[in-house]
Amino acid sequence: MDLDFVLMMELAEVDLILKELEEGYRKKYFRKDATKPWGFKCYYCEKKVASNEADEFWCVPDTSYGSSGIGRRRFCSRDCSDCYFNEQRNELLEQRKRIMEDRKLLRVFYKEAEREFKEIISAANESYST
Ligand SMILES: [Zn+2]
Repeated sequence: MDLDFVLMMELAEVDLILKELEEGYRKKYFRKDATKPWGFKCYYCEKKVASNEADEFWCVPDTSYGSSGIGRRRFCSRDCSDCYFNEQRNELLEQRKRIMEDRKLLRVFYKEAEREFKEIISAANESYST
């Protein structure tokens, strides 16, 4: 398969995950009608958050490599979720940059290969005509 095509597909996937990350970031409210309170540990600061003490929490999709964006991380505060969100986002942007650089490098190789190929063809044609 064409290598550049593979890189383009990778780029499209990173863009899709970026979108998932941005669209999946939300503030949530604890249900207050539950008979038993439930809680969780903030993924970032590890503080315990319980539904009978807090009103709201934040959710960010887990887009780390291999997670396929299905899981979610829960946070105690906007500060904690922002930190995690920015980390995930920077990682994806870094990945995006790397793919762009690979594509640029690939174009240089292709150009060089094309030049060499043309040289060989013209050399072959010359030897035919003599
Ligand atoms: Zn926290």
